[in-house]
Amino acid sequence: MSAPGSLSRYELALPLLSSPAPSRSLSNRLRDTERRLRETEQRLRDSEAQVRQLQKVEAVGNLASGVAHDFSNILSVILAATSFLDADLAPDDPLREDVGEIRGAAERAARLTRQLLAFTRRQVQEPRVVDLDAVVGGMERMLRRVAGGAIDVELVPSGERAHVVVDPTHLEQVVLNLAVNARDAMPRGGAMRVECSADVTHARLSVTDTGCGMDADTRARIFEPFFTTKDSGTGLGLATVAAIVQQSGGDIRVDSELGRGTTIAIRWPLSARDVAAPIAATHVIPLSAYARGETVLVVEDDDAVRRAIAGQLVRLGYRALVAANAGEALLVCERHAGTIDLLLTDLGLPIVDGRELATRLARQRASMRVVFMSGHTGDADALAKPIRPDQLARRLRAALD
Ligand code: ADP
Ligand code: MG
Repeated sequence: MSAPGSLSRYELALPLLSSPAPSRSLSNRLRDTERRLRETEQRLRDSEAQVRQLQKVEAVGNLASGVAHDFSNILSVILAATSFLDADLAPDDPLREDVGEIRGAAERAARLTRQLLAFTRRQVQEPRVVDLDAVVGGMERMLRRVAGGAIDVELVPSGERAHVVVDPTHLEQVVLNLAVNARDAMPRGGAMRVECSADVTHARLSVTDTGCGMDADTRARIFEPFFTTKDSGTGLGLATVAAIVQQSGGDIRVDSELGRGTTIAIRWPLSARDVAAPIAATHVIPLSAYARGETVLVVEDDDAVRRAIAGQLVRLGYRALVAANAGEALLVCERHAGTIDLLLTDLGLPIVDGRELATRLARQRASMRVVFMSGHTGDADALAKPIRPDQLARRLRAALD
């Protein structure tokens, strides 16, 4: 490495030029400079290692996000098909229970996919202002279940206005991942404390356990994807936490000592805004009430997903036109004599992407509304795949009105 070499000559020359110091002090300064040189070299080596590590993470991330993207398309199909079945079955049909099982499993798979995408940071996020105390408080039962009988669980709310901007599902994921790790660290029982606090500028969430703790080597690697010390660990828990916290503008502190337990603390900047009102679960509007016979053009390159979405639209009471790519969509628009009220297009289309298609079609059909769908970009304005029928219904209505 030539850079540190020349740097050293330059730095060594400085004390000689600057002052006629006594030789004892000169040799002190030489030693000092040498030490600084060694430190600089060490820092350089560290950052090289970090770059290599990031490249590895990036490669794994690309692979994972590709798989997760295809997978969420498949789940869209399963979720749509179960909602069709649900709608067609008589209320007392014994098959309802099976359909419920399928939907439950598909929703779990969708959550898992979201976790994988959150870790690769390509997920469509839905950040909102949330109250830390409320989110953590709402998880109490789950946390106790996760901990099991041998672990004392203590929840300490901040009692302050601990408002932060984060996707609430992600926040729950963070708390859950930390709690699972705390439990795993205490196989023979102990105590777990989940604490929220707030000061003038920040809100803090910490999970403390009285478990096995970590040595320095382990501590240095815990956020690495796939790093695990457990027989059946995935090594994705803390990598996911780190990705979510970074995405939401927070930072993480780890305090841990072998045999003495662990505290992992996360800090977010406080939000001055108020918590968004939750959507009341009692206001269930039948989905079919959303459509008024409008015509929707669906552009999606995956055949099964396109069929599923078109099927959902028809059941909601829309008229559906379909196209597999931008070229087909342009043809459909040319040939369709009537109005097309809305373009529902995937962003990631081959050759001409969804945004470009929307721009082109806007020239021909100026009044046509547009809704984007997306499996793996960070576009906040796109419907996140897998798409649930109720989300689709609401989003289309909002765009049409
Ligand atoms: P996994 O739990 O699947 O191993 P994580 O990413 O969640 O993956 O954690 C990575 C590693 O960090 C764990 O295997 C464990 O060695 C260490 N670790 C995480 N949390 C704790 C904790 N609370 N106490 C002790 N070790 C922990
Ligand atoms: Mg874990």
